[in-house]
Amino acid sequence: MESSRQSPTDDEWTPVTVWGLSGYVAAALLILWQTHSGERWVFLLDNANLAFHEAGHPLFGQLSDRLTVYGGTLGQLMFPLAAVFSFHRQRAALSFAFCVLWLGENLFNISVYMADARVQLLPLVGNGEHDWTEIFSRWGVLDWDTGIAGLVRMAGWMLVVGAGGWLWSRHTAEH
Ligand SMILES: [Zn+2]
Repeated sequence: MESSRQSPTDDEWTPVTVWGLSGYVAAALLILWQTHSGERWVFLLDNANLAFHEAGHPLFGQLSDRLTVYGGTLGQLMFPLAAVFSFHRQRAALSFAFCVLWLGENLFNISVYMADARVQLLPLVGNGEHDWTEIFSRWGVLDWDTGIAGLVRMAGWMLVVGAGGWLWSRHTAEH
């Protein structure tokens, strides 16, 4: 019987070796440390996030002027999300987990910017407008900036820890 080419099933995830699992844990710990201490900036990764962020403003601005301010955040989430879905389709376990880690790291990055909406201490790139001061003001929730930032940071933690737990379960299921 001939079968048509389909995407792999759940059982066909690529194997997770102890090295892959260790690599994830090391990367996650490094990212958690860098995003929760000192400058809260992950070298290279946050530079890439910033590039996608800055590209997102004019990109979404093409659709509507009112979207311009959201475009930065949407832009920096779009790429890790696309990568997460793509590796999920391919059942590439380790790449999938690393992209969930990247997505979670993005949420840490965004939460730092959100929490700055009222105090505005961060150095800004671009036209000097603070995205989250503008967004939270539009929504009438500016006073809640640090609370909302806390929820976004918590979601980041869930992604980072969740992907690690999932990798662990896939590793142990094979042994
Ligand atoms: Zn921006």
